[in-house]
Amino acid sequence: MATVSMSLVFQNPLISPYHSKTRPLPRNQSNCFQAPTSTRTKPTSSFSSIRAQSGTAARKEDIVIVGAGIAGLATALSLHRLGVGSLVLEQAESLRTGGTSLTLFKNGWRVLDAIGVGNDLRTQFLEIQGMVVKTEDGRELRSFKFKDEDESQEVRPVERGILLETLANQLPEGAVRFSSKLAKIQKTENGETLLDLVDGTQLSAKIVIGCDGIRSPIAKWLGFPEPKYVGHCAFRGLANYPVGQPFEPNLNQIYGRGQRAGFLPVSPTKVYWFVCFNRQSPGPKITDPSVLKKQATELVRDWPSDLVNIIDNTPDDLIIRTPLVDRWLWPNISPPV
Ligand SMILES: Cc1cc2nc3c(=O)[nH]c(=O)nc-3n(C[C@H](O)[C@H](O)[C@H](O)COP(=O)(O)OP(=O)(O)OC[C@H]3O[C@@H](n4cnc5c(N)ncnc54)[C@H](O)[C@@H]3O)c2cc1C
Repeated sequence: MATVSMSLVFQNPLISPYHSKTRPLPRNQSNCFQAPTSTRTKPTSSFSSIRAQSGTAARKEDIVIVGAGIAGLATALSLHRLGVGSLVLEQAESLRTGGTSLTLFKNGWRVLDAIGVGNDLRTQFLEIQGMVVKTEDGRELRSFKFKDEDESQEVRPVERGILLETLANQLPEGAVRFSSKLAKIQKTENGETLLDLVDGTQLSAKIVIGCDGIRSPIAKWLGFPEPKYVGHCAFRGLANYPVGQPFEPNLNQIYGRGQRAGFLPVSPTKVYWFVCFNRQSPGPKITDPSVLKKQATELVRDWPSDLVNIIDNTPDDLIIRTPLVDRWLWPNISPPV
């Protein structure tokens, strides 16, 4: 899966990050707030420093995190566990509880354990034992067990909505402010960062952490390049088997010419699947779920029948089609697109 987004940290170098309404951070933890110098880019001219508008009632915050996705909520919870308060701004009215699932390997679980939500999530999702790779006509190319490769490996999918809710539920009341779309960000002469929200609210922050996804306005402000379409799109869905799904706990991948598909059981009743295919341009946005389902099925009609059956068992609101994009932060090593 190639949807890549990056949490960007913008820190005012003049003001100490240790100042917090809750517990001060020890000095040796300061690096977790600091973007490496090489990745920090000067604001573009349209966002040059401005004088703080005197007399305006900009609410003062120490740390503002923009975006209540996985990165924003995990960052807020990490800070909270360290005794550091933050305010998360989210443009949507509520958490995005829909969507499909993502598969986390041991590094992801280590992070979830460190912020105290690993075990809560483990009980809800299956541990995936291994990977089976087949051709489109069902011939097995390779199969292996994850723990044979690395005994400490842990592979488990999580439903996106449940992950978000679990993270958010651990945050103090009021830590996430919904319907709060960042419209404009600018640097003040006193070194703080001024955030203008679409609803007219103005916030002044010592530290702003951009977790605003692949289309990040903060990345744009920092001068990072626009994300680029990588030449393929993906259908993804979460199939529902109310009386129990029949699959072994394996990640199944099927390779065809110009396309790749896969599925894995997520829980006793849910199965995540994807069909990824080459396409020169992203094409028109399709929102009609019956069209999405039909198109995805067409792509794998002659492939192993499990896949078509899984797509068939997917409720309409749990199927999406997205162009895959990424943004490389280091231009000199960016691959050609
Ligand atoms: C179906 C699917 C399957 C995936 N599978 C995997 C996988 O198996 N493993 C893996 O590692 N990754 C996977 N990924 C990628 C992974 O899910 C993403 O990298 C991750 O969701 C990015 O999280 P994020 O918090 O950075 O961004 P997002 O989830 O995009 O969250 C950004 C948030 O910022 C908010 N926002 C944006 N602009 C503003 C603004 N101006 N003001 C206020 N708020 C704003 C948005 O509303 C959103 O809530 C998958 C992605 C998808 C879609």
